[in-house]
Amino acid sequence: MSKPLPRVSEVNRAFYEGALKGELRLQQCEACRKWIYFPRVACPHCLEDRLGWVTASGRGSVYSFALVHRPQHPSFNGKIPIVLAAVALAEGPVIISEITGVDPTQVFIGMPVEAVWEQRSEEVAVVHFRPTADWRSRASSREGRAAAFSGNPGGAGLSGER
Ligand SMILES: [Zn+2]
Repeated sequence: MSKPLPRVSEVNRAFYEGALKGELRLQQCEACRKWIYFPRVACPHCLEDRLGWVTASGRGSVYSFALVHRPQHPSFNGKIPIVLAAVALAEGPVIISEITGVDPTQVFIGMPVEAVWEQRSEEVAVVHFRPTADWRSRASSREGRAAAFSGNPGGAGLSGER
């Protein structure tokens, strides 16, 4: 079974065009200069509608995450648990995405990550994140790891319940 595809629209088309080239593109407000994700028609900070597209670094860190053992779509069942994370990009915005390329039990809050792309169709690639090559040297925050694993294995944590 194939995974669901995001719907490409006039608003997010530049994002997905970048994705096909391996570029993580973000909007940036031409008035207040703040970075914006997800794609929209007006700046959520100042309501300006002149928004430009800029290729971001693709780097960030895990802000929070949950291990998903019961995905909402059967196409994901073959690779549970899925690490669903809030990734704080270096530019500021937070993306909800999947952490791949690492044992799920190794993921920790603060883990440095970089964008990778999962090609889901000819037109659509979806952004995921994997640990950067030097992540082990930055894995000293045991406190963050302990906090991350104190929740239930079903995966609370992104909904704002604390
Ligand atoms: Zn703005």
